[in-house]
Amino acid sequence: MAISRRNALKIGVGASALAATTALTGCQTTAGASAAPAAASKPKMLGHHQIIVVGGGFGGLTVAKNLKAIDPKFDVLVIEKNETFMSCPFSNANLGKLEGINLGTFVFDYAKTVEKNGFGLLHSEVIAIDRKAKIVTTAKGMIGYDILVLSPGIEYNYKAQFPAWDDKKIAHIRRVAPGALIPGAEHVILERELMSMEEGNVIITIPSGKFRCPPAPFERASMIAAYMKKEGIAGKVIMLNETNEIAKGAAFKESWKELYGDMVEHIDFCKLVDVDPKAKKITFKQTTYKDKEDVEGTVTEKTLDYAVLNLIAYNKSHPVIEMAGLEVTPDAFGKVKMNGCSFRSLTDENIYAVGDVVGHGIPPSGQTANWAGKECAKEIAHRLHGKAFEMEVQTQTIKAGNVCFSMVGDQPEEAIMVLHDFSFNGKIITAKGSVPKDAKTGKFRGTATAKQTHEWYRGITSDLFS
Ligand SMILES: Cc1cc2nc3c(=O)[nH]c(=O)nc-3n(C[C@H](O)[C@H](O)[C@H](O)COP(=O)(O)OP(=O)(O)OC[C@H]3O[C@@H](n4cnc5c(N)ncnc54)[C@H](O)[C@@H]3O)c2cc1C
Repeated sequence: MAISRRNALKIGVGASALAATTALTGCQTTAGASAAPAAASKPKMLGHHQIIVVGGGFGGLTVAKNLKAIDPKFDVLVIEKNETFMSCPFSNANLGKLEGINLGTFVFDYAKTVEKNGFGLLHSEVIAIDRKAKIVTTAKGMIGYDILVLSPGIEYNYKAQFPAWDDKKIAHIRRVAPGALIPGAEHVILERELMSMEEGNVIITIPSGKFRCPPAPFERASMIAAYMKKEGIAGKVIMLNETNEIAKGAAFKESWKELYGDMVEHIDFCKLVDVDPKAKKITFKQTTYKDKEDVEGTVTEKTLDYAVLNLIAYNKSHPVIEMAGLEVTPDAFGKVKMNGCSFRSLTDENIYAVGDVVGHGIPPSGQTANWAGKECAKEIAHRLHGKAFEMEVQTQTIKAGNVCFSMVGDQPEEAIMVLHDFSFNGKIITAKGSVPKDAKTGKFRGTATAKQTHEWYRGITSDLFS
């Protein structure tokens, strides 16, 4: 069994799938933008586009595609640093090695959507934004815009969480204990680490504050437990949570207890102190409280060995937001302050934002980034067509506007879900969440929900890539 895991690693199931899709995507299809590297000293001016979208993820890709669907004459350029699109949603199912799921399930190439929908795509990293001059500087050169849409997603904030770590240590930890909340190599590294482990504990750390997809670490714990159980790997999945919050908590706890017993352990109030990646040890301070009156609690420093560490560091808006100098919410995440329920930033009428960086109260997710991308495209189109944008959504409640599924079991596949309704009152967006139970079994998890998870994923990725 261990041999089969190693063999799978040797033949590089994940790596070859990634290489294949990377090779497919050679598109540098920006009209007027050359792929030639910019001179080191002064970036070269590559051209001008009516609308530039930074980030070809769930939000950005939706904006670009829908702008072109509304008006093919719109001149839209997406700037995306990765050559391939990698979906975070469903990536945990790959760690669970669910039947028929592999790296290719969540890696997509941009070629088809670019060709079919007719927007431009420049693969480069945005490194500066000059709002006054309306210029975006990329690693390949500078490009002017009339309207800028930002959907760059998140970044980790290791410095805030581990002030004593220098850049070298942060880079090393990022490589060997990836957070796997950002699309790209992190997911591949985590998968490889798991596939090569023979025994021992997998530790997942959960940060305090806002972070991308709050149920994701708990779904991941379930999927890793499913994999270890299936493969007969001796060990536990231990979650070190800086708080005591678990998104969809009752549903996850029910599933862990009934499917994995003692194999899955969740520990509250663990403040991480340090990681020794060579010795594979993590040190944390755990606070335990006797009762509700015990406000201070008792702090104990502990060190655990791990075989695999998924260190999810504090999250913040991607630095692209800071580059644009937009006003952000005062919390540590720093989301873009928006103009009411609109997708226009409060600071600059020519800059819009979608996805996880949006500062009004939409629950951030791939689903809502896709929805927001469509709304944002409509809003921009109205403006470019010289019409006042009627905020028709402002008085509505969007039923089940966000549906977030989490796979919890394998053999049979079972999943749980959380639904969020949005309501708009003109200035504020509020969302109400609920976690339904399976009507037949009376349990949170169900096989029908697992089927819906597959359908949802097929639907949203086909919306992005067709
Ligand atoms: C494990 C996991 C599971 C999840 N499951 C679900 C789920 O089941 N359902 C759901 O709805 N959501 C889920 N999510 C959340 C979802 O992935 C995010 O909410 C969504 O991706 C947000 O979209 P976005 O456009 O803001 O960011 P992203 O999709 O991350 O896109 C940002 C893009 O910007 C690019 N970029 C960043 N910086 C630059 C730069 N400087 N220059 C050029 N390009 C740049 C990035 O490469 C990336 O492609 C999950 C997330 C994780 C981590």
